[in-house]
Amino acid sequence: MSERVYNFNPGPATLPVSALEQAQKELLNYKGTGMSVMEISHRSKQFEEIILGAESLLKELLQIPENYRVLFIGMGATGQFDMIPMNYMVDGKIGNYVVTGSFANKAYKEAVKVGEANLAASTKELNFARVANPDEIQLSDKPAYLHITTNNTIFGTQWKVFPDTGDVPLIADMSSDILSKKIDVSKFALIYAGAQKNLGPAGAAVVIIRDDMIEKSNQNLPTMLKYDTYAKNDSLYNTPASFTIYMIKLMLEWVKSEGGLDVIEKRNEDKAKLIYDTIDSSNGFYKGHAEEGSRSLMNITFKLSNEDLDKEFIAEAAKIGLAGLKGHREVGGIRASIYNAMPVEGCQKLADFMKEFQAKHA
Ligand SMILES: *Cc1c(COP(=O)(O)O)cnc(C)c1O
Repeated sequence: MSERVYNFNPGPATLPVSALEQAQKELLNYKGTGMSVMEISHRSKQFEEIILGAESLLKELLQIPENYRVLFIGMGATGQFDMIPMNYMVDGKIGNYVVTGSFANKAYKEAVKVGEANLAASTKELNFARVANPDEIQLSDKPAYLHITTNNTIFGTQWKVFPDTGDVPLIADMSSDILSKKIDVSKFALIYAGAQKNLGPAGAAVVIIRDDMIEKSNQNLPTMLKYDTYAKNDSLYNTPASFTIYMIKLMLEWVKSEGGLDVIEKRNEDKAKLIYDTIDSSNGFYKGHAEEGSRSLMNITFKLSNEDLDKEFIAEAAKIGLAGLKGHREVGGIRASIYNAMPVEGCQKLADFMKEFQAKHA
């Protein structure tokens, strides 16, 4: 490919061209330091501006209340699968999990290793074709928290309404839909996301955490596993993934310059509609995996009538610059990941291609 393609990869995923260009422009000499961001001290005033700037931009865009902090932690979202039960499944309290997909199940399995965890609901029997209904969720006694996965990246489902847990802390893995729409952050005690889907490149998990959850950090844990270590030190207890955090800031600036979450949310709805409408009007040529009420606006999963046709679809699409459409091995078929940085034009081109492919093969 001599030009950039439309990149439908699930993560690491496509980034806004303007953010990449900004990084390119500043790559050799960041703001007159004579050094790259990769080369400056994480204790320098330039980097302090970057990390605090990223925090305040995210707070502004998501309208995060005053009593929350934004932390940058290593080990990706998967590291949070361990930190959450280690910090909060203490004093006989039980971690509650809703398993609506592969990552949700991984989170639950880690909690089982740490202590007592309760499977509060699961849609495994439906091959994760939908998320759980609120009335299916059964909390344990002495619940430490309820953990949900707001967007199931592999199966292509997404929660439309979040469960109301009252005083029980609601914790959410939002790796694949954070910042894709407005949410009421005050419903959540802790939100986390691996950066490489909707926030920037790989290397950091972004954690939005309420003050009381910072205070409740388990003090018997090693330093790097306690949330309060990151909060007290502005995520600079050790050297953070500085270039990743810089790219996150550029990506957040891009979201703001596009008009913020009002514009992004509407655009994401329009983008997904282009593809779902094509599936729905294909007379069964394309079969969606997710039930209609749970359809993800970020990851669209579908199949053709057989695996050979799936393969041909993916290969033909790649030839015209539609890359990364292969479904995850657990579901098969096609997956179009259309995070914030995927332009409308990419979705339109995919929808047009789907119609042409059907006309040739139906
Ligand atoms: C990608 C993903 C993860 C894993 O993220 P890592 O940063 O690779 O650890 C976890 N949860 C969800 C929902 C994801 O989409």
